[in-house]
Amino acid sequence: MSALEIRGLRKAFGGVVALDGVDLSAELGEILGIVGPNGSGKTTLFNVVAGALKPSGGRITWLGQEIAGLPAHRIARQGLVRTYQQAMSFPDLSVNENIKIASEHGAEGVAPLMAPDDLLAFVGLAGRGDEIAGSMPFGNLRRLGIALALAARPKLLLLDEPAAGLNDSETSQLAEIITGLPGRGLGICLIDHDMNLIASICRRLVVLDFGTKIAEGTPAEVLNDRRVMEVYLGA
Ligand code: ADP
Repeated sequence: MSALEIRGLRKAFGGVVALDGVDLSAELGEILGIVGPNGSGKTTLFNVVAGALKPSGGRITWLGQEIAGLPAHRIARQGLVRTYQQAMSFPDLSVNENIKIASEHGAEGVAPLMAPDDLLAFVGLAGRGDEIAGSMPFGNLRRLGIALALAARPKLLLLDEPAAGLNDSETSQLAEIITGLPGRGLGICLIDHDMNLIASICRRLVVLDFGTKIAEGTPAEVLNDRRVMEVYLGA
């Protein structure tokens, strides 16, 4: 059994069916890419898995336990942590204070991934622990967002568009950070619009369209899939 097993997941907002029977599994130690056009259900999938939204149906099994419908803080305590497109930090507090708070709300019974100073160095914020989070430039806020998620000691990290708004060199630095995580035993699920980024760091992709999974496989397999070309790349 995979670390995360999703079966027949459904989420409807009134008449809008955002997830329509999604099956998906994710392993620790792998980077799984989740792609699809705008409105295909990617963010809703993360919100439901991480407990920010309750599913309308289906099953989510995490490390052998059913977690569908549990509140977000209980899911995070079990090591399943998501990041947001906006770094969810306390802007008036320092970087170190934000990290401390994130670690206090993190997984129970899991050893820290690394010491706070090493964590900052790992995401490229060495020596910036005393800076006020809200005063940092956008690229550093993104790094902080990842540092905060890692401070919560995730086993599986759900990254929602971590490269949005970053320039090319920031994006490749981010890719380096992300690709360093599976070697530390973490699983990563990554949503991004940047197909180059996804294809370069994920060995397996899942493609959503209108709330259903339309393809799954290696980047090469997925990019050559006729349905994917039709609906995702507009070919
Ligand atoms: P993606 O992340 O792939 O762009 P989303 O998960 O954001 O897609 O959205 C999937 C569908 O669900 C879209 O049709 C969107 O309009 C709808 N949706 C998402 N969140 C809500 C919400 N809170 N209320 C109503 N509809 C929503």
